[in-house]
Amino acid sequence: MSRLYSVNPLDQSVVGDVAVTTQEQLTEIVERAKIGQQAWAKCALSERAQQLSDAYKKLLPHQAQLATLISQEMGKDFRRASYEAHGVVQSAAYMIEEAVDAFQPERLAARSELQYRALGVVGVISPWNYPLAMANNLLIPALVAGNSVILKPSEHTPLVADLFIQTLQSQLPDGVLQIVHGDGQVGQALVQSDIQMIAFTGSVAAGRNIMANAAPQLKRLVMELGGNDPMIVLASADIKAAARFAVASSFENAGQMCTSTERVYVDQSIADAFYQQVMADARNYQTGGWDEPGVNIGPLASADQHQRVVNQLQDAEQKGARFLMGQADYPLPFVEPTVVAGMTPDMQLEQTETFGPVVAMAEFEHVEEAIERANDSIYGLGAVVFGGQDAAAVAEQLEAGMVSVNQGVGGPGDSPWVGAKQSGFGFHGSKAGHRQFSQVRVINF
Ligand code: NAD
Repeated sequence: MSRLYSVNPLDQSVVGDVAVTTQEQLTEIVERAKIGQQAWAKCALSERAQQLSDAYKKLLPHQAQLATLISQEMGKDFRRASYEAHGVVQSAAYMIEEAVDAFQPERLAARSELQYRALGVVGVISPWNYPLAMANNLLIPALVAGNSVILKPSEHTPLVADLFIQTLQSQLPDGVLQIVHGDGQVGQALVQSDIQMIAFTGSVAAGRNIMANAAPQLKRLVMELGGNDPMIVLASADIKAAARFAVASSFENAGQMCTSTERVYVDQSIADAFYQQVMADARNYQTGGWDEPGVNIGPLASADQHQRVVNQLQDAEQKGARFLMGQADYPLPFVEPTVVAGMTPDMQLEQTETFGPVVAMAEFEHVEEAIERANDSIYGLGAVVFGGQDAAAVAEQLEAGMVSVNQGVGGPGDSPWVGAKQSGFGFHGSKAGHRQFSQVRVINF
């Protein structure tokens, strides 16, 4: 049986390994999920919620171990990894309650009701950048709705996913929550298996493939895909606040965040002052190992990921970008905090997701140019404007699922996390988001 080795990107040491799920095992797992789901869906909504809440309580003693595994498997500094692990465990009760609310039947008329019924078996396929949070956001509403779930975590973070799922699984009825391991091929086999829905978080490329493979059975899909988020800085902006945000959002999780700021368009009249402030802020960031004090940028999650960022920086250098901080090439495993000015539309930095700790900036004379460049993208996840009174009108014109003025994207806890264009469709969060894990049924008595 072949093994999947989890490799620490800091020093290439093996953190541990798991067995790759074979096609035969996958078929058995799907059968078990179907049987488990029948009984699970018959439990009252409140009973499912109670069992799930109790299961999450079993994670409480494992929070530090979960955080350590996140750090070891994908390089995230321990403070951020702890934040992720604690967030998942501590917010579960609230998320479960919110999902229960979403699936309550609604009276339409005296003898007519809208019901939210389980779909069957849901495959959740997740990425490595937030290996717990991304899986968790989708599996809670799926389970509360009465589905059973099969998680396929990223091949880069199998161990943290294993601890998470095994702990929950031990408290839930047989077949309700299971895990399969492997790379995209195992993901593809799960998509093609006899299940009813795929909730996917990952790249646009994999998303296209998943959609094609889900087509023959018209499987339900939720697609949370990549982004290339623009930020527009108007002349009326608070330069300090805008620079602080540009740096923090570009460097968060070593830039490996779907809504990290990827392209900054700054009014040329304030560009020099903005650059100075960006560099001052960028100097507060330090690369290093996950458990070293003061480190806030870990190694990139894999050698491929590192190479992808270096390729984009080299492409930018060849096309005339100015490196205000950092350089176009870095040895493994780090990409140092990098600040680039003079980004142009022909650069990969502008065209596609970078996923590294890079602030990439361009100047504009008229705001229409900035809006046009911001919107000239296949992606449409988040977009941000910093400015005074004039910022709201600019925000109105941005093509993204989440748009914010003078702050990062993502609203209060229960608001949806949603992409436009090829950043995906379907979403999680909010009643409408949760309900995508159900089949709506109108019943007249
Ligand atoms: P990825 O697409 O390479 O892999 C994601 C998951 O899909 C992994 O588990 C992988 O094994 C699996 N997979 C790959 N090919 C598949 C296929 N053909 N069929 C089925 N499964 C397949 O993405 P990644 O590198 O792990 O994650 C980074 C990407 O995720 C970035 O583009 C990022 O923007 C995106 N992301 C989006 C959100 C969001 O909420 N929109 C959140 C986090 C990450």
